[in-house]
Amino acid sequence: MYAFDYTRPKALNEASAALQADGDAKLLAGGMTLLPTMKQRLAAPSTLIDIAQLAELRGHSLESEAGGPATHIRIGAAMRHCEVADSAELRQHLPALADLAGGIGDPQVRARGTLGGSVANNDPAADYPAGLLGLDARVLTNQREIGADDFFVGMFSTALAPDEIITAVRFRIPRRAAYAKFAQAASGYALTGVLVADFGGDIRVAVTGAGPGVFRWKAAEQALAARFEPAALASLNHPADDLNSDLHASAAYRAQLIKVMTQRAVRRITA
Ligand SMILES: Cc1cc2nc3c(=O)[nH]c(=O)nc-3n(C[C@H](O)[C@H](O)[C@H](O)COP(=O)(O)OP(=O)(O)OC[C@H]3O[C@@H](n4cnc5c(N)ncnc54)[C@H](O)[C@@H]3O)c2cc1C
Repeated sequence: MYAFDYTRPKALNEASAALQADGDAKLLAGGMTLLPTMKQRLAAPSTLIDIAQLAELRGHSLESEAGGPATHIRIGAAMRHCEVADSAELRQHLPALADLAGGIGDPQVRARGTLGGSVANNDPAADYPAGLLGLDARVLTNQREIGADDFFVGMFSTALAPDEIITAVRFRIPRRAAYAKFAQAASGYALTGVLVADFGGDIRVAVTGAGPGVFRWKAAEQALAARFEPAALASLNHPADDLNSDLHASAAYRAQLIKVMTQRAVRRITA
């Protein structure tokens, strides 16, 4: 490590002003990625702006239209993975997302890591990007709203501007959904993870871990819209081109995992 300043603003507008005032400053949420990156000297921020306890980034709320059933859930960016996994209300309305959060890393990582930090970091093997893309979420920032389809633009990169702060994520509540992950044994990161969501015939299949960034498997979405059962994917294979190949798994292995994890998620939903 090397010398840097640390500040803990009391309100979102203070954090925003601090970030705008110093182009070399960085937001600190759970620190699960940023601090190791600094220790390895891959990042050297002048100041850490600690947003982990900002009230405006905490909590969750249900949204509905004209007093009807809940249609969306808004979760604050500073909500830690363990809080999403353990919330009875989130588990009732979005069990797939609670399961996803409960499967991230290990208890220590879940006790510190946050939704906003994970989404901003956009690690190609992280779980939340599949949650956002599969659940047709919108990323809310201190400046605007961005749909998940436009937010994740590539490996470790997003549509966020350097001075933009994620305040919350707004998830659409599906009729039914499930997440299936084949985890890398040491870290828990997804070798391949698939979130399947059914919004009443409109199907979304979001894949993480297999490629350079999260993506939708549209051929599977069409097949499942016609027949929502694992057998609908029997003759469908995801091409291995453009998938990741590394010491953990070849591209061909990951292509097979995409199919198997998608079928597993569908089976979990229909069982
Ligand atoms: C051992 C280990 C195992 C892990 N396993 C998994 C796993 O299985 N699955 C998985 O998905 N993840 C895994 N992670 C990652 C972890 O889940 C964290 O979510 C992730 O590292 C970042 O979240 P954070 O809150 O710690 O962010 P930080 O490390 O504090 O920040 C990360 C980046 O996001 C920026 N940032 C933070 N908050 C915001 C915000 N609100 N708006 C804009 N930018 C922001 C920061 O400036 C920084 O650039 C693992 C991490 C470790 C160390």
